[in-house]
Amino acid sequence: METDKDIKCKPRGFHCTLCNVHIPNMPSLDQHLKGKRHNMISSARSTRKTQGECSVYVSGIKPEISQTDIAAYFEQFGPLSDIIMDKDNGFFAIVQFSEANSVEATLSCVEHQLKGLKLRVKPREKKDFKLTPDKKTNDPQHIFDRLKPNLCQQASVDAQMQHVVQQFQLGENEKKARGLVVQLLQEVFIEFFPDSQILPFGSSVNTFGIHNCDLDLLLDIENTKVFQARAKSTTEQAGEGMSDDGHSEDSILSDIDLSSASAAEVLDLVAAILKRCVPSVYKVHVVRSARLPVVKFHHRKLNLQGDISVNNRLAVRNTCFLQLCTGTEDRLRPLMYTIRYWAKQKWLAGNPGGAGPRLNNYALTLLVIFYLQNCEPAVLPTVDQLKDMACEEEECMIEGWNCTFPSQPIAVPPSKNTQDLCSLLAGFFSFYAKFDFASSIISVREGRALPITDFLSQNKEEEVMQEEQPPKTQHHSPKLGPLNLLDPFELTHNVAGNLNQRSQRNFQRECQEADKYCHCLQYQHKSTKGKPWGLVRLFTPHGNVPHSKTHQPTISIPFNSVSLPEELRSQLHMAGDGFQLLWFQKVCSAVEEVFQTVLKCHLTRTDSVHGEDSAVVGAAEEMETSTASLNTSINSCDSTESSVSTSMAGVKRSLSSDSDPSVSPQGKKLRLGKRGRPELPPWTCVLKHIVWLGRRKVRWELNKDTETRPEGSCLQVESQVTAHIIEKEPELKEALEFKIQPQVVGGTESTKAVLKFEPTSDKTGVFQDFFHFLEAFLPKMVETLLEIQTGSA
Ligand code: ATP
Ligand code: MG
Repeated sequence: METDKDIKCKPRGFHCTLCNVHIPNMPSLDQHLKGKRHNMISSARSTRKTQGECSVYVSGIKPEISQTDIAAYFEQFGPLSDIIMDKDNGFFAIVQFSEANSVEATLSCVEHQLKGLKLRVKPREKKDFKLTPDKKTNDPQHIFDRLKPNLCQQASVDAQMQHVVQQFQLGENEKKARGLVVQLLQEVFIEFFPDSQILPFGSSVNTFGIHNCDLDLLLDIENTKVFQARAKSTTEQAGEGMSDDGHSEDSILSDIDLSSASAAEVLDLVAAILKRCVPSVYKVHVVRSARLPVVKFHHRKLNLQGDISVNNRLAVRNTCFLQLCTGTEDRLRPLMYTIRYWAKQKWLAGNPGGAGPRLNNYALTLLVIFYLQNCEPAVLPTVDQLKDMACEEEECMIEGWNCTFPSQPIAVPPSKNTQDLCSLLAGFFSFYAKFDFASSIISVREGRALPITDFLSQNKEEEVMQEEQPPKTQHHSPKLGPLNLLDPFELTHNVAGNLNQRSQRNFQRECQEADKYCHCLQYQHKSTKGKPWGLVRLFTPHGNVPHSKTHQPTISIPFNSVSLPEELRSQLHMAGDGFQLLWFQKVCSAVEEVFQTVLKCHLTRTDSVHGEDSAVVGAAEEMETSTASLNTSINSCDSTESSVSTSMAGVKRSLSSDSDPSVSPQGKKLRLGKRGRPELPPWTCVLKHIVWLGRRKVRWELNKDTETRPEGSCLQVESQVTAHIIEKEPELKEALEFKIQPQVVGGTESTKAVLKFEPTSDKTGVFQDFFHFLEAFLPKMVETLLEIQTGSA
């Protein structure tokens, strides 16, 4: 039975297609049809229908024609109720009349001419009414599926990149709507916080915004603080009650002392005002855990997510800096939109929900700018250079940081770089594919990579000096991580400090993949057979392109400066360029210790130069590769392949022989491996017991029993666990034998020690299990040992 055209009978009840709800029975259906929601949606549909019947679709408009011109022309056919112009997507307009017969009058006119242009006028297309925006339009797969054919049709990669901008950028109407929200909030907040200002920043206004991007806002209450202080002193003079401005003492400012209130306290008030006084705003909540606390809200009518912060004037200033960059360089926007979309597709940027280990869009933007500063010749100037281009009136200091740069792009000389977008994009991937993240701190301020060693020894003296400075200018050293990217103004803030090792590695690996692809014909040449080419393959989401995997079991121990003990950091700092080798030496020493002392393996080192094996422990034989032959081979290797190998030669000069990092812990010299990577001769390892099984249980038992409870370091505990297992468990029928080849990788990739495993005798088939255990156990133990060894050195 069908009671209404929107109601469909279902085997178990009804379905309202208008409201998209299931209704279980007849009484509930009755209630639903009489309900507020159904009637509201129903009336919205009829309004939309009437609007459609009263509108015409106009195309053939040129940019010089304004909305006023259109209005003036179409008014001759009847009174107008609205005009919607979309210059971004093909120069069309929808002209809405107050009455349907004006449409007839318009369509009966054979030719429409405006300012010499022939306009095409059609009845407005009738679309089915939908309650909510089509979910598909926000679905990444759907967006990509729609983008693909359009990209394939373009004539060049440059045209594809311009198309990406057209597709994603904020339209004029979207910008206008955001402007209205800002205006509305300004009007409300000024009532509660006199002299305050609401200032937009971030993607809504930085020229890189996309549909649905959030609306970042600053509530600037600096002037309100002055106002409050003044009002307070006047009140004190005049006695209790009323200030001279007529603001009653029970205004919101009497609840809070802005000069001493924390950001979170101010934001609680902001949240209360948003909830009570701003129409169409809902889902208001304060996020205190963020580095800069914010109030989040949602604007229902515009379906917009907003964030309000206080004390964040640097963000407004760095947004102006991004606007300046766009103003001085036309190629920046297509490059940025393309890279932002690529990073989104590959899950490299954007943290759903705010916090997370991926790059945020601001950090990604700075990476693009840094690359452009490093092009040859440079596409963008450094921030220091920009500072020198500014005039006196443009000087700007915020929280003790120099934020000076010209206010107008005209003050910045045009770049001499003439590369097209296609080659700049390929250059970006190639730049970061090879970038040595482990040993560099990216400085957009100076436009160069600063050596990490300068930051490893942020010593006490500096801290003491800073403590003596007034609190406003007290600056701490940046939080170091796997990717270090300094804010251009707040120079001690690592904007990529949230990244973990994995997200940094993913970013670099994707750059390497993209770099490889950009060298293929498919990147630059349009397919004549309609196959994906150019950006399409770059944008192919994760999972569709499998990554090549090496089958050799490998354990990597990344150089992670943050987890190193202070003393080792100082030693590495002293080693200058040779810090990677010194670190590698320490890691190898720790690896040997884990296998020998902790896991009780029999370890020997194969010296392939001499072609013989010798026991590592107590090995007195001379096993060094001659220094001369090592240095010759190092110097003759490709210098671009490995900065580590270059530094090996340099280290010899700068360090005394007993701290020569090119000498292994057992006096072995580093040599160059197949790909020019410094390595030590491989170890051969023999293991007779299943020492990896049941460790947790043994550890627990040892801990429980006071007599056997192991004392001392984690190393001793783990050694006792192994000893216990060896004592209790029978030997393997056939010992497991395997080789480990240690190498240090750096220069073209982030610094890490790579241990390649190769089982040479595994008759009982236990290698896989053992390796699986080592993957987690070894890096953890090495980290602990690095601490102990450094402490006792
Ligand atoms: P989108 O909102 O589309 O992800 P966005 O350009 O607005 O992109 P956000 O990451 O939201 O970028 O950052 C908004 C603004 O907040 C930036 O322009 C910057 O001023 C400031 N900001 C964001 N992250 C940081 C950070 N890690 N350090 C310093 N300022 C930041
Ligand atoms: Mg934002």
